[in-house]
Amino acid sequence: MGKYPAEPGDGARPNLTVPKEQVMEKVVALAKRRGFIYPSSEIYGGLSGFYDYGPYGVALKRAIRDLWWRHMVELRDDVVGLESTLLMPRAVWEASGHLENFVDPLRQCLGRCKKRWRADHVLGEKCPECGGPLDDARLFNLMFKAFVGPLEDRASEVYLRPETAQGMFVDFKNVISSTRVRVPFGIAQQGKAFRNEITPGNFVFRVREFELMELEYFVRPNQDDESFDYWRKERLRWYTEVLGVSPEKLRMYDHPKESLSHYSKQTTDIEYEFPFGWGELEGIADRTDYDLAVHQEKSKQDLTYLDPETNERYLPWVIEPAVSMERIFITLLVDAYDEDVVNNEPRVVLHLHPNVAPVQVAVVPLSKKPELIEVAQEVIKGLRGEFRVEYDQTGGNIGRRYRRQDEIGTPFCITIDFDTLNDKAVTIRHRDTTNQERVPITALAGRLGLLTDGLEPS
Ligand code: ATP
Repeated sequence: MGKYPAEPGDGARPNLTVPKEQVMEKVVALAKRRGFIYPSSEIYGGLSGFYDYGPYGVALKRAIRDLWWRHMVELRDDVVGLESTLLMPRAVWEASGHLENFVDPLRQCLGRCKKRWRADHVLGEKCPECGGPLDDARLFNLMFKAFVGPLEDRASEVYLRPETAQGMFVDFKNVISSTRVRVPFGIAQQGKAFRNEITPGNFVFRVREFELMELEYFVRPNQDDESFDYWRKERLRWYTEVLGVSPEKLRMYDHPKESLSHYSKQTTDIEYEFPFGWGELEGIADRTDYDLAVHQEKSKQDLTYLDPETNERYLPWVIEPAVSMERIFITLLVDAYDEDVVNNEPRVVLHLHPNVAPVQVAVVPLSKKPELIEVAQEVIKGLRGEFRVEYDQTGGNIGRRYRRQDEIGTPFCITIDFDTLNDKAVTIRHRDTTNQERVPITALAGRLGLLTDGLEPS
């Protein structure tokens, strides 16, 4: 009873394997079609490397951001938050080494296409696009420059931050003197970062405006190895257990010494196997005391920490897990994308973890009959606030309405039917198995709570 339409519901669905080379194209099309991501300023021809987030994109983005904050700050007693400004003066970037070192080698095609390439992304001497000759590599700084005030001189020069980290170092003294933090402790920040990438691409994998989520975790000098190990494991766990990323698609890549950034003693990337190959999802870097030391020297301010237990003064060392919301976003879409067959019809489905699904519960009355609508409104009122809910009152073919929810990754649809009027129960339709179960309305929120928390199998 209560199965609309009669779907196989036994979880045994023929799976259509999507050829790897088609996955990105399909994900990009779905993202646009279903209101996740649009190219920025599209009606004016777009702006390369910039994207806007539509209604479902915003919901997914916020879920990612909130889960990061919850696990990195709220569920811990050793991490505090910070929000520093997006524009910071030249002096900051001079001290941090970004003016000198935040550069990529650039080569331009001298042949037909005149395309610019990142030299370390090009194999050989020929243009990958048209086969023309390439000029010699020159260094290109990735920071966007601006001026504060009416004069465009050195003193008014500011830069849009390419990372949020420097805000944490520059405010380090303020944080230790205004709070009760004790080493080891961390400062976390989420917010926009900007990089004038030479070759943005692979959808939102490499963009010019993105949202970084960074933790600077301060430890005693030379006690970095233990913390570095801890964060490598902890971050990997977060991806698989909290976001539901397939573990077999993740791996650790330890950077060889010669390719480390100017501030790093050791760096590990958590990589994901994207359709275009393995790529960096998150970087975990051991920044030593490099940043605090250079800011102390250039600002002539004492940035040392006084250890209350040993009475020692020192500059703490820093472990930094850093990831952009965009890299997680594309990882989740690619990881979740699937095509299978339901009722002899192909369907597109996003197997998003309920933690991140833009809509966790969709309420779908079977028809537009006022008595059904009335109950549906009651049901949704009881769920709103606790879950991300959507109400689909369009009427018409219920199978089609399920398909739409499948495409945006909604794990649970609640169907209100004519039996509901008598038995005061509704049907939960499960996205992944298409199984359906009948639940009394009074027990619905509790059951959905267990399901979305993953405490009971779907
Ligand atoms: P690359 O060498 O690939 O340009 P990087 O190693 O300099 O990148 P990091 O400075 O380590 O990158 O950046 C930290 C994190 O920020 C990355 O792991 C990634 O999640 C994210 N990130 C960096 N650049 C971009 C970008 N252009 N678009 C989206 N996310 C980015």
